[in-house]
Amino acid sequence: MLPKQKISRARTRMRRSHHAREPINYVDCPRCNSPKLPHAACDNCGFVRPGLSLQVDQES
Ligand SMILES: [Zn+2]
Repeated sequence: MLPKQKISRARTRMRRSHHAREPINYVDCPRCNSPKLPHAACDNCGFVRPGLSLQVDQES
């Protein structure tokens, strides 16, 4: 099956107007102030939220 009608350049561009990538959101770790992803453990110190933190390897 082929499309009945050619989609105009304007309609193609209107559709793709929602395809832009958004910047990744970071929050500052309250324990060590390094940027981390929300709801994820900090790469630097393993902090997730008050009362929960994960062990991170202290290599390198
Ligand atoms: Zn941290």
